[in-house]
Amino acid sequence: MAEGHGRGFTTEILHSDRLGGPIEHGALHKPVHGSVAYGFDTAEMLAAVFQGTEKGFSYSRSGNPTVEALETKITAMEGGVGTVAFATGMAAIGSILFSLLRKGDHFLSSSFLFGNTNSLFQSFAGQGIDVSFVDATAVDAVEAALRPETRMVFVETIANPRTQIADLEAIGALCAERGIVFVVDNTMTSPWLFQPKAVGAHLVVNALTKYIGGHGAALGGSVTDTGLFPWDRYPHIFDAYRSATPARQALTQLRKKGLRDFGASLAPEAAHTLALGAETLALRLDRACATAAALAALLQAHPAVQRVYHPSLPDHPQHDRAAKLFRHPGALLSFELDPREDLFAFCNRLTLAVNSTNLGDNRTLIIPVAHTIYFEMGAERRAAMGISEGLLRVSVGIEDQADLLNDFAASLAALKF
Ligand SMILES: *Cc1c(COP(=O)(O)O)cnc(C)c1O
Repeated sequence: MAEGHGRGFTTEILHSDRLGGPIEHGALHKPVHGSVAYGFDTAEMLAAVFQGTEKGFSYSRSGNPTVEALETKITAMEGGVGTVAFATGMAAIGSILFSLLRKGDHFLSSSFLFGNTNSLFQSFAGQGIDVSFVDATAVDAVEAALRPETRMVFVETIANPRTQIADLEAIGALCAERGIVFVVDNTMTSPWLFQPKAVGAHLVVNALTKYIGGHGAALGGSVTDTGLFPWDRYPHIFDAYRSATPARQALTQLRKKGLRDFGASLAPEAAHTLALGAETLALRLDRACATAAALAALLQAHPAVQRVYHPSLPDHPQHDRAAKLFRHPGALLSFELDPREDLFAFCNRLTLAVNSTNLGDNRTLIIPVAHTIYFEMGAERRAAMGISEGLLRVSVGIEDQADLLNDFAASLAALKF
């Protein structure tokens, strides 16, 4: 990251606000700018900002200085050309489809997908934007499902809850060859573990709510353009945005359609809270990933644990891919208890891991998957997605490692079989 500066990842985030230009009173953080509208000395200046010939802010739904400071940090972290921030990760993903696809288009998605993203894609199918779900752990399935009208391929880096890893390098090469937009949801790895630009991603999604914030105290999402897609050759850019340089055409359209028109805008207070979390991303994730690998090994050694899913384990189907591409194999794992065990009781015996649906929080969170986040889709679809009824997902936090391992060891010791 930090091309052009040569500074390290954390240094760049910490000093980004201050070095981006003078801040009132010498403040070290970009202040929270709550003003909705911005005034100008002359009407000509107002017109120039509207027309994009002068930099500036007119109305906070389309752009805000505090939000822009966060966008600048994410662009640096991802090594991109620009970022648009959204109210949530879902708003970021929805805005990509809403802004860049049209009726009659087709897109491919990994079938191992965040549940709400899966549901969102099915809603778009009802609007005439057709989606096919494929096993993206091997490029062959992706290539076989391409159609002449396929415009986009969407994958996650590490899927949740089973931690499958998409065939990122080969899919990136395929998309480049066919002129298809490659969208990578980097939430589970975050730019500290992996920069999707390295495998040819064109648009990178981050749910800022998760690791980048880390505190679980604010929702947010982002889309970063890596500068690799020739948008001047993409048919669905509106004429009004063709005047931007090719690298900025999709970003301009995302901002105009997703923020200005659709209103999926990030609040400045949330942007500030997320930016505070981003300062310690690398420190937190190094620690959480180390604990996750230790916990995966502890679980795998217990006779009542039938399967453990974490890319650190040598028997994980994409273990080598994770080792090659990612700094660490992630801080999320899942496991299956012997079906005769009571998985609710297992969770309830834990004193540190919280029964909660989020992931990427500083606190360790655990959830029985089939009964909660995958409940709505029913047993048949769960089975097809490889989600067993006894699957538990753990999002490992930054507690002192020994405390967390002791907590799980105590609950494992009370198992019967
Ligand atoms: C949580 C999550 C999202 C959605 O983010 P929100 O901010 O909760 O809307 C999208 N993708 C992945 C992989 C996620 O984990």
